[in-house]
Amino acid sequence: MTTIRIGAAPEAYEGKGLYLDGASAEPRKAELRIDEARRALAILMPRKDPVYWPLTEIRKLPDQSEQDMAVMRLAKDPLARLILTTAQDQEIMRVRASELHRRPPVEGKRRLVVWGASALGAVALMIFVLIPFLADNLAGLLPASGKRALGESVFEDVRVALDRTGVDPLPLCEGPEGLAALEKMGTRLFPNQSEEEALVVHVLDHEMVNAFALPGGIIVFMRGLLEKTETPEELAAVYAHEVGHVRALDPSRIALRTTGSAGVLGLLLGDFAGGAAVLFATNRLIQADYTQEAEAAADAFAHQAMLDADLAPEALATLFKRLREEYGEPEGVVQYFLSHPSLGDRIEAARAATPADATFRPLLEAAEWDALRGICGE
Ligand SMILES: [Zn+2]
Repeated sequence: MTTIRIGAAPEAYEGKGLYLDGASAEPRKAELRIDEARRALAILMPRKDPVYWPLTEIRKLPDQSEQDMAVMRLAKDPLARLILTTAQDQEIMRVRASELHRRPPVEGKRRLVVWGASALGAVALMIFVLIPFLADNLAGLLPASGKRALGESVFEDVRVALDRTGVDPLPLCEGPEGLAALEKMGTRLFPNQSEEEALVVHVLDHEMVNAFALPGGIIVFMRGLLEKTETPEELAAVYAHEVGHVRALDPSRIALRTTGSAGVLGLLLGDFAGGAAVLFATNRLIQADYTQEAEAAADAFAHQAMLDADLAPEALATLFKRLREEYGEPEGVVQYFLSHPSLGDRIEAARAATPADATFRPLLEAAEWDALRGICGE
């Protein structure tokens, strides 16, 4: 296929962004065009009147976090925001919006001088010290209902983000016998769940060989993982590993930390940008971008949970080993699942955690396991 660029004419620009009108908390997907006649950026949304931002009035907010996104605002509108996530869209703004980096007018230079140094210090303190501190501590302070709400919001974003059309959420797999088998697995592994912190398990109809945990005890398996596990014990080991992340508050911490100042301040101040920021945490969560220590701790938690349930921790090793053999150098769909440098150590640890003389009880009947693996239907 050949792409014909008409001399990089600016009117050929077709960009995308997320638009927050400042009145509602809901970010809207927008198509972006340059309207040369109006000398404005046209922000086009389905079923909404177009919004025009004069090019000379677009400003870029100072970087708020390490995200690859840029947040634009309008000089005279304190609330509306446009979030650009691609380098191309940001480059177009840099070229076309001439006043992008102009600071808002300040009355009285004197005051600026007085406030300048201390304000700069305060911002640095906030970005480098307070935000990570707040994120980590908020994770511990969030009530169960808050974590669940955060998790559900991220889960809905995940479902939309993974759907090929980008419009409908990815379907959940809900074969009733499969769900019953999952329930049985959860009860066997974690028999004493309080009502408040009960685990919620979903299967998503996606070929990715992956599982991940979200804030509030939401565990998600992808269909691809069910297809790659050969025994109920292997799946149970992954289940327990994900619960290990939940108990350590890893997903809550990363959700809050990844959203950076926008997310944390959003939660504290009810800032509408918080909702959009959650969207960008999504990728980090399904990539399970945890530290090596967090992974090792979740594995150790899983080993103990398996032993407590009369199941062999070694199942985790069996699964990892087979995936490694099948995929060799990690890439593509299993990249995040296998890319961990210490996979060999994790296999060894799971084996070492399995006593040679222990006896184990079967987890699921053959028919239950078949139903679970076929939970997404034909
Ligand atoms: Zn993990």
